[in-house]
Amino acid sequence: MDATWLLNVKLETGSYTDDNNYTYTTTDLFHLKLQDGKIVDQILATEQLPETTVNTIDAHGYLAVPAFREMHNHLDKTYMGLGWRSCIPVNSLKERLAHEARELESLAETAEARAEEMIKTILSHGSTHIRTHVNIDPYIGLKNLEGVLSALDKYKHAVTADVIAFPQHGLLNNDVPQLMREAMRNGATMIGGLDPAGIDGSIEKSLDMTMNLAAEFDADVDIHIHDDGHVGWYTIEKWLDFVEEAGWQNRTAASHAFAIGEVPIMKQQELAERMKYQGMDVMSTIPLTKTLPPIKLLDAHGVGVHFGCDGFYDSWGPFGTGDVLEKATTFCEMSGMKDEASLRKALKWCTGGVTPLDENGNQQWPKTSDAADFVFADVSSSAELVARKPARKAVMKAGKIVSGTLDN
Ligand SMILES: [Zn+2]
Repeated sequence: MDATWLLNVKLETGSYTDDNNYTYTTTDLFHLKLQDGKIVDQILATEQLPETTVNTIDAHGYLAVPAFREMHNHLDKTYMGLGWRSCIPVNSLKERLAHEARELESLAETAEARAEEMIKTILSHGSTHIRTHVNIDPYIGLKNLEGVLSALDKYKHAVTADVIAFPQHGLLNNDVPQLMREAMRNGATMIGGLDPAGIDGSIEKSLDMTMNLAAEFDADVDIHIHDDGHVGWYTIEKWLDFVEEAGWQNRTAASHAFAIGEVPIMKQQELAERMKYQGMDVMSTIPLTKTLPPIKLLDAHGVGVHFGCDGFYDSWGPFGTGDVLEKATTFCEMSGMKDEASLRKALKWCTGGVTPLDENGNQQWPKTSDAADFVFADVSSSAELVARKPARKAVMKAGKIVSGTLDN
C-alpha cells in the first residue's frame, strides 16, 4: 500500500525542571511516514519531505498520544439507543441480578444496535481496543454474543476486541458450563468469571471449572472479583495457585479486585509480588463508591494495571461516558497525582502501559515500526490531557482516521 505522511504532529520529546522546581514537558513538530498501519519513518517538521510524497494528512500541530485501550466493558448491557431509562432501586446484588434477568430477553433483540452505539461512543473518546464481557446465561444463551460480534464486525477497521464469555448469573448454574463452551466455539475469545465465593458459593470449584475451560480452549481469563476483604483476597490467592499449577502466566486478569485494598499492607505487598510473578493484571473502573485496589502499590510491584469504563447507562447504573481517560483523571484527582510527571505517568493505565516519555522524562514513543494508532487533542502535553481531559479531535487506527477529524 502507498505510504501516507502524517504532517505537523506534536510529540513529546523530553522534560526539564527549572530552579523553582516546576517541571515542563518539551514537544516538537514531526512528520511521520505511515505504511501498512505502522510508522515507518519520522523526521522533524522543519526537514524537507521526500519529493515523491503524494498522500498527506495534516495534524495541524495537535498532540498525538498512543490510542487508548478500554479494558473492562459490557457492550451487551447498555440502554444506548433505547431512550432514557434510570435504574430500578434494589437492596442487594441478588436483587440486581434478578432484575437484570427479567429484562435480558427483551433487550437481547436490540443487542447489536445497542453495542454499536456503545462502540461508536468509546471510539470517539480514543479507545481502539475494547475488552468486553458478554453475558452467557441460562436466560438468553448466546443471543447477546451474536449481537456484540456483529457490531464489532462493523467496526473491525477501527477497533480490536477481547470478547469474554461471562457467566453473569453464575458458572456453577445448570447448563452454563456447556453454554460457555458453545460461546467459545462461536466467537468468544476469553473465559470470564464472577465472584467464586459470592455468586458461585464455592471458591475452589468455581476456579477449577474456570481454569479447566481456559485450558480446554487455550484461552486467557478475566474474573470479576467484587467479593470483599479476606474472602476476595483468599479467592485471588487460590486463583494464583491454579494459575501457577496450570502454567497460565501472563494470561489472567482480576477485574475490580477491591479486596486487595482491604487487607493489611503486608498482605497487599505479598499478593502483588505473586501477581507480578504470575503475570496477573488488575482491571479497575475507578468506582467512586468502593475501595480501590492499591493501584500505586500494584504498579510499583510491576503488576499490569488497566482502566475501563465498565458497563454504562444500563440496568446497573445510568451514569458513565465511555471515556477511559476520565478514569485516569479521576484516579489522579483522588490520589493526589497532580504534578507534571505523575499526570503524564497516569496515561499508561489507558494505553496498555505505553507513555510518550519514560519515568525519567526521556522520549520512548513513538518508535519506527510502532502501530500508527493515535489519539489527537489540542493540548501541550499528556499531563494536560490527563488533567483537563479535553475533547478528542480525532482517533487514528492503522494509519486511518476512524473517528473525528484533524481539519481545523
Ligand atoms: Zn464488569
